[in-house]
Amino acid sequence: MILSYKPFILEYKHPFGVSSNTRTSTTSIFIKIEHEDKIGYGEACLPVYLGETVDGTLAFFEIAKPVLAKIANSFSLKEIVVQIDALAEGNNAAKAAIDIALNDLVGKIENKPVYELMGLGKSKPLPTSFTIGIDDEHKIEQKIKEATDFSILKIKAGTKDDKTLINIIRKYTDKQLYVDVNQGWADKQMVLDMIFWMKEKNVILVEQPMPVAMIDEMAWVTEQSPIITIADESIKRLKDVERLNGAFSGINIKLMKSTGLTEAIEMARFAKQNNLKILLGCMAESSCATSAMAQLMQLADYIDLDAPNLLKNDPFKGVTYKNGNVYLNDLPGIGVEPIDSLISF
Ligand code: MG
Repeated sequence: MILSYKPFILEYKHPFGVSSNTRTSTTSIFIKIEHEDKIGYGEACLPVYLGETVDGTLAFFEIAKPVLAKIANSFSLKEIVVQIDALAEGNNAAKAAIDIALNDLVGKIENKPVYELMGLGKSKPLPTSFTIGIDDEHKIEQKIKEATDFSILKIKAGTKDDKTLINIIRKYTDKQLYVDVNQGWADKQMVLDMIFWMKEKNVILVEQPMPVAMIDEMAWVTEQSPIITIADESIKRLKDVERLNGAFSGINIKLMKSTGLTEAIEMARFAKQNNLKILLGCMAESSCATSAMAQLMQLADYIDLDAPNLLKNDPFKGVTYKNGNVYLNDLPGIGVEPIDSLISF
């Protein structure tokens, strides 16, 4: 197998603010893995908070290249993924890119969509939330207008005054809200009070209200919370989900945290067995990674796969969006095609 890669700057339609920073673009590294006459595509997205860099990711790909080059004709995807994982600690996004590309490749070899390879059916179209970053009232109003197609909005809270933010949103729309606090609240009684207040405002789930370290406080909140509490920064891989032990009532699975689809489906299955709700999430990423994650939609309770809609220059075609719903296609693999005018390897 031949691995090649291409760093690419994804540009946002609007500057995107969360509680820690505001960005106008983000870098993804796209890869392809060629085997005989088939090509699998993958993507590594590098959000600042996960601490992975372009240089570090490219260095990991260089280590992975000779391992992939030795793969013979009959191979086991799972065995390769284990080998790649053992090459170095961390590097979850780089590992995810390789896992996505391998799944895409196997799907193309077997002429099946990945959901079918994984023993799942083709999910019906599902509504995704559409994320509104932290902004001033005028821009929030404008973004809500742009989101008319979407039936659920996700807002980034953890501001100085989240009640004002939510009240502003409620001036313009009564759509269901997901509230992502990105660890922004630290007092458990205040968190619980906010949750009860938000429930009255038609907020249906709250994501990572408290810092990762506050696991006992989070368990206290979840036990009394009338809405779903979702772990995001608190979990990356399966072992993290196994350790949660009641601190949250659901998990946000993202390929860039889980090291790809192979482990993501194990996390989803563990969640099902343990009565945890499943939210399929994404980073700021293109249709390549999002279409890979969408392969698991049949297992999802909630989906937050709006990332391609926020981009000006998405270099892949994949899942499509209509009336705020995500539609899978019937193409083999992860169902994507690069747009030649935007990207070439
Ligand atoms: Mg989050």
